[in-house]
Amino acid sequence: MSRFCTLCSSSKGNCYYISGGGTSLLVDAGLGPRNLKKALDSLDVALEELAGVVITHEHTDHVKGLCSLVRRFRLPVYASEGTLSALEAMGALPPGAVVIELTGEKELAGIGIRSFSIPHDAADPVGLRFCMPDGRTVGIATDLGHVHGGIRSALTGCDLVLLESNYDPAMLQAGAYPWFLKRRVQGEQGHLSNEAGALLATYLAQRGTTRFVLGHLSQNNNLPDIAYLTAREALQEAGAREGVDFLLSVAPAQAVHPMIVF
Ligand SMILES: [Zn+2]
Ligand SMILES: [Zn+2]
Repeated sequence: MSRFCTLCSSSKGNCYYISGGGTSLLVDAGLGPRNLKKALDSLDVALEELAGVVITHEHTDHVKGLCSLVRRFRLPVYASEGTLSALEAMGALPPGAVVIELTGEKELAGIGIRSFSIPHDAADPVGLRFCMPDGRTVGIATDLGHVHGGIRSALTGCDLVLLESNYDPAMLQAGAYPWFLKRRVQGEQGHLSNEAGALLATYLAQRGTTRFVLGHLSQNNNLPDIAYLTAREALQEAGAREGVDFLLSVAPAQAVHPMIVF
């Protein structure tokens, strides 16, 4: 049995919990220490149980809680070479931090970790595929400027995927962002729209993924209902039945998603 949930997920902060075979870890550390403790308390998980933290990239919404977390609990940090250098340059790693470079296949106390490169405006950003001790697989794919074949194949066959559904194009266009920011969000190295996320979900559903969590929603340019309905419609149009072929939910921006046991 494996367990997954998001502790927070939006353009303001991202942190996820994965557990299986007696090992628990965090993906990204976009929660401050007090909120992290509160979130884990609500799941009955002690910070001391965590075996490590895996970082997708160095943007603040993914690492603002990293330094204090690592300093207090001496958690090893798993990240790509470029992300580790960026974290060091930013002072986001406390002195003496144990770091492990993500290359090829890594293992963290029984959980397999495979990283894959994603197009995003960070030093060396990655998506992740976790192979749990019971053989279940979890994919993490947020902060995607666009979807390419490498991303599709890295996620194919995952049981559960956390998928970016960042913005509604009409809300972004009509919204208050200055033009350069609108361009950045929509750019090849920015974020994934609801439609693009839905398309990827459909591709994966046709290849065996049954559980989708939409995440990293913009709090300015999206609404949970729009993200949810866009993905559901695309999946249903492709012939997948909700509740039978797939389950779909949206990660709350600043609250814990109900624990998914799979
Ligand atoms: Zn982000
Ligand atoms: Zn980012």
